[in-house]
Amino acid sequence: MPKIVETGSKIWENRHLTFTEEIDNLYDMWNSADDDVLTSYTRMSEAIQGQIGEVIGQGITLRALGGGWTWSRIATCHKGRMYNTKGLNLRFSLGSSLVDDAYTDTNQDLIFVQCGVSIHELNLYLKRKGRSLKTSGASNGQTIVGAMSTGTHGSAFGFGAIQEFVVGLHIITGPDPQVPEHNVYIERASHRVTKPVFAEKLKAKYILNDDLFNAAVVSFGSFGFIHGVLLETEPLYLLECYRQRETSPALRPMLETLDFANASFLPHGSEIPHHFQITFNPHDMANGAYVTTMYKRAYTDQYSPPDTTSGFGPGDDAPAFIGLVSDAIPASVPMIVNNVVKASYKTFHNVVGTRGEIFGDTELRGKLISTAMGMPMEEVNRVLNLMLELNGDNRFGPFAGVYALRFVKSTAATLGFTHFAPQTCVLELDCVWSQRMLKFIEEAWRRLDEAGIPYTFHWGKQCGLNNDRMIKGYGQERIDGWKKARRELLQPAVRNAFNNQQIDAWGLCHDGLPETLLT
Ligand SMILES: Cc1cc2nc3c(=O)[nH]c(=O)nc-3n(C[C@H](O)[C@H](O)[C@H](O)COP(=O)(O)OP(=O)(O)OC[C@H]3O[C@@H](n4cnc5c(N)ncnc54)[C@H](O)[C@@H]3O)c2cc1C
Repeated sequence: MPKIVETGSKIWENRHLTFTEEIDNLYDMWNSADDDVLTSYTRMSEAIQGQIGEVIGQGITLRALGGGWTWSRIATCHKGRMYNTKGLNLRFSLGSSLVDDAYTDTNQDLIFVQCGVSIHELNLYLKRKGRSLKTSGASNGQTIVGAMSTGTHGSAFGFGAIQEFVVGLHIITGPDPQVPEHNVYIERASHRVTKPVFAEKLKAKYILNDDLFNAAVVSFGSFGFIHGVLLETEPLYLLECYRQRETSPALRPMLETLDFANASFLPHGSEIPHHFQITFNPHDMANGAYVTTMYKRAYTDQYSPPDTTSGFGPGDDAPAFIGLVSDAIPASVPMIVNNVVKASYKTFHNVVGTRGEIFGDTELRGKLISTAMGMPMEEVNRVLNLMLELNGDNRFGPFAGVYALRFVKSTAATLGFTHFAPQTCVLELDCVWSQRMLKFIEEAWRRLDEAGIPYTFHWGKQCGLNNDRMIKGYGQERIDGWKKARRELLQPAVRNAFNNQQIDAWGLCHDGLPETLLT
């Protein structure tokens, strides 16, 4: 039988130790070992339904937990139950008979995985099958559903964020195994992948609906318990990677267009890279920006994987090292940032590896803040100037960290924070954790508001979202669409159970219908 084991923890602390939350209990989840794999999976669905029933009965709330890497309180629920899903890591390949006749790829391109499979596990598993994820974040400690649920992204500006390769969602939406609507499998009607018999195997109701899918795919724990996801993968490839310092005057204008036609300063000139990322050290602008480019290459085993003995990998970004900065004496901050960046964020040339090797394990060093805002690409230079001015304003600066820009193709997810078309620029402020830096990033958000720049927040990072910023960042239509889909999928008692203070503060719980936040 599946095991859902009470740990007795009454306090939950996120991975970065940046906040604690009082909870009712934390539970570890384990699949049954003595059933066949599919039975083990469907029994866990029933066990999850049992837990939802108990939570509703007790009038409290619940939250599924992935890797716990999120900086925001979206990952938790005050006085509620948290469920550690990392033990839920079953994987299924699909026989061709399960795939819809109109599907343009094949069953070889698909993999169905349970929610707790980590990005690290997926990279290893897929490599053995000669396959690869289409994109990922810079690190690999997230679970697949934890990463998807906040819209985790890399800088695959031609593809998008993690949720873009998810094509099926198996969600436990209620407590009763006898009610078909309490256990559903959803695909987009516009991108049908499997036949209904696949959902039957999961004992789930088969639903084809774009609006429900697009709302649920980035829903930060609020759309029921996502038990499994169907992923599209691609044949294994290599990434050929470079990081250089660049002072070319052509760089900054290019960030507004991502037009590589005249990018002669890049390692492969006008060839369009798969990944393109810029990091600015505001204390050392004269020596140029750090430009990371990665080009996709056909897989061959004739390569040497990257050397990570220094403790840093080629895919690591600022969160991997910025916690090493000290903010104790503001006047020393520029020198300290310069030294830490020089030691930890080195340039490199023609480093080659699979996705899993390039974006490998990240060791967290020190306590840090990472906040990331999505915005239209054409605003990038205006925003960068604002951030550089803020760094020079001695009421708030100097900034004990670095600024990074990544670019992500616009998402189809209703509340995906990378929704600006055609590409969203994601500005990241990564810095050491201190009261001074908390004030700095709040001022950064205020200056974006003042400048009238539309922006959204990464759901899983330090987040200054409120109702007003929610409306400005997404527009009422997206917000209403997300809430409508949530109403359609979850009955009121279940919606209450999956509420938390964050989505309440953002105006996502209330929809004019009588319902109260339970704490
Ligand atoms: C070192 C480091 C590097 C990072 N790099 C990047 C990066 O490059 N790009 C980027 O975009 N982000 C990055 N992040 C942020 C990180 O990817 C997100 O916070 C991500 O959501 C964390 O995933 P997780 O598995 O830890 O999920 P958690 O933090 O545990 O949870 C995230 C959300 O998913 C929900 N959830 C989890 N499992 C389920 C489930 N089964 N059903 C329903 N809801 C569920 C949770 O309730 C929560 O709301 C980084 C974070 C760290 C610590």
